[in-house]
Amino acid sequence: MTLEHINQELQTLKEKKNYRSLPPLIHEGRDVLLNGQRMLNLSSNDYLGLSNDISLRKEFLKTLTPETFLPTSSSSRLLTGNFSDYQKLEQQLATMFGTESALIFNSGYHANTGILPAICNTHTLILADKLVHASLIDGIKLSSAKCIRYRHNDISQLQRLIAENHNAYEQLIIVTESIFSMDGDEADLPALIQLKKSYSNVLLYVDEAHAFGVRGKKGLGCAEEQDCINDIDFLVGTFGKAIASAGAYIVCRQLIREYLINKMRTFIFTTALPPINIQWTSWMLERLSALQHKRAHLLQISEKLKVALTAKGYNCPSVSHIVPMIIGASEDTILKAEELQRKGFYALPVRPPTVPDGTSRIRFSLTADITEHEIDQLIKLINE
Ligand SMILES: *Cc1c(COP(=O)(O)O)cnc(C)c1O
Repeated sequence: MTLEHINQELQTLKEKKNYRSLPPLIHEGRDVLLNGQRMLNLSSNDYLGLSNDISLRKEFLKTLTPETFLPTSSSSRLLTGNFSDYQKLEQQLATMFGTESALIFNSGYHANTGILPAICNTHTLILADKLVHASLIDGIKLSSAKCIRYRHNDISQLQRLIAENHNAYEQLIIVTESIFSMDGDEADLPALIQLKKSYSNVLLYVDEAHAFGVRGKKGLGCAEEQDCINDIDFLVGTFGKAIASAGAYIVCRQLIREYLINKMRTFIFTTALPPINIQWTSWMLERLSALQHKRAHLLQISEKLKVALTAKGYNCPSVSHIVPMIIGASEDTILKAEELQRKGFYALPVRPPTVPDGTSRIRFSLTADITEHEIDQLIKLINE
């Protein structure tokens, strides 16, 4: 691409109203201020509302001294960056999940773009849900596996594809999210596990980015809720969403962990997260199982919003705290989002190519510090 091409491409994005720019937001607790307008943030991934909890931060700060406040690891973990905090957090995760081992990554993006290329070769077939996250798609592209995308949550098509292909490959890997980021619906993990178990060469990779912290009695995700943690070969989640930190994990067999440490490029060739961040994650994790009331409240307000949208005639596939208001045409969606923003709700439109043509939507991403009264006010605006 020449610079001229780049310039043309930007013009085209602007003409098609798909141009992206960074919003100059000011954060004040649950609110954001944009161009002087104060709005309740309905677009955050802070699902448990923990990022605004000053008392948590105060308490954590008391545990620190200038000696233990370590803002950098200065190195990859394989060189000199392997502080004891990492091992402690990995042990903590393995114990909580009841798995052989755990491994921490710098982000969910690092995890998904690193694990798949490491574990695949040309004799691998990846079967990925049509709606998996961009980081998984990039991981698939970076791998040497063949890939087929199956229709969203279509287990019978997946079954057919496995039946047709399992003899032609050494290894098949099913790749899915547990809660999906655009529709807020859920994969049928028990069905996927049953399917994989009927073949000797199928493994299962599940990304719980939107479910970790939010689902399950201990907050470990849909796999905990469905009691199938140890049936999932690659169980991945992020710390940047519900638990208000940064980074990501996999819980898995010891064998896989060892292999990733040796082969995973986005683990090996990057400076490990700052130990202070690992300490914060660990500290938050210790408190996670006690937050059942927040999980319950989040589900309750989400359900209320979904019921209202459905009653108004919107098709709402959500079963989670991600609740789309599917409007259809991009322009109508933008107008509705702007109206909600004028009235104090920071809701954002999502358009193609992020979602299929004709399904532009406002994506409500709810958090546990939103009150039922605020949801009622939002519902009133939706019904206007
Ligand atoms: C957010 C997200 C990621 C990326 O995680 P980061 O830690 O933000 O890099 C990966 N997968 C899914 C499904 C996500 O929603």
